[in-house]
Amino acid sequence: MFFLRGSRKADTEPETESLTVPETVAEETQETVPETEAPETDTQEEAGGGPHAWEIFPQNGEVLTAVNARASAEGDSAVLSVLQEGQTVVITGTDGTHYMVETENGTGYVARKYVIPELYQAGNHPPFKAPSLDGIDPEKPMVALTFDDGPNAPSTNRVLAVLEKYGAHATFYLMGSNVYGENNDCVRKMVELGCELGNHTYNHNYFNLQPVSEIRPSVRKADYMIEETCGLMPATVRPPGGGIVDEAAQELNTLGLAAIFWSIDTLDWETKDPDNTYKVVMENVRDGDIILMHDVHQETADAAERIIPALLEKGYQLVTVSELAAARGAVLEPGKMYREFWK
Ligand SMILES: [Zn+2]
Repeated sequence: MFFLRGSRKADTEPETESLTVPETVAEETQETVPETEAPETDTQEEAGGGPHAWEIFPQNGEVLTAVNARASAEGDSAVLSVLQEGQTVVITGTDGTHYMVETENGTGYVARKYVIPELYQAGNHPPFKAPSLDGIDPEKPMVALTFDDGPNAPSTNRVLAVLEKYGAHATFYLMGSNVYGENNDCVRKMVELGCELGNHTYNHNYFNLQPVSEIRPSVRKADYMIEETCGLMPATVRPPGGGIVDEAAQELNTLGLAAIFWSIDTLDWETKDPDNTYKVVMENVRDGDIILMHDVHQETADAAERIIPALLEKGYQLVTVSELAAARGAVLEPGKMYREFWK
């Protein structure tokens, strides 16, 4: 069973912008998981250094975006085959950054990130770990800013800059299909700043409108893109559009993810009005709120540049969703839904 917290429900959210994976074939040299350890204060699940349990080869994989399979790991080696989105390939091994796949012209090398192994897709999310509360005073007011649908480097980097300037934390609900190219650096910066990564599905899939059988692929593809980018797993999931039904919640329970909604909906995506976004937050904010915004819009970055210092000025600590939950003594449980952590 699951429950709802809070009552200020808002169920509107934008239609996502169309999938932005480039139509051109992805290049496979840019994707490497950094060698550095995650910061100690970051309690999101670490990928670890050794092989994962699902790294058993050969196994089938699903191609996530059109990508070249080359004759070697060198980015300029001959193209043996162009893999197509949705194609199933046989993965025969990995060198850590590439998979070796069978092609009609022999063994090809492809960046790991663009092919999701079926054992990964079939697997569950690792157990949630509560974060440390270092630097957070549980007695003082706090709110969790959340930013959905990104990353989108031009606007997301502005949000990250203001968070960094003020030493504030936020939670980013990432779309897996946006985690490529220059947006990869946004994800790594989020981790560096102590922000939290969240799962917003691969392609903004609505849990209430799609067959339950499609929830796992959409969630696991986003998990995979994020983990392959920064070595960390998302902490929680935010259902796109706030769409949820009982069967979907049960599937999230099986997958191992808590669903996070919000208690203040800024409607930033609709108004594109920084003054209004600022006003909605500052006139409604209360201790324990989860605030919904979208870092894919420049107008939201404009608003964030004003909201973050203003909330700090009012005495609010700006924390991640998991930090807020932990500070309120709540244990985030898979398949359950949370909208706020008011006292
Ligand atoms: Zn969304």
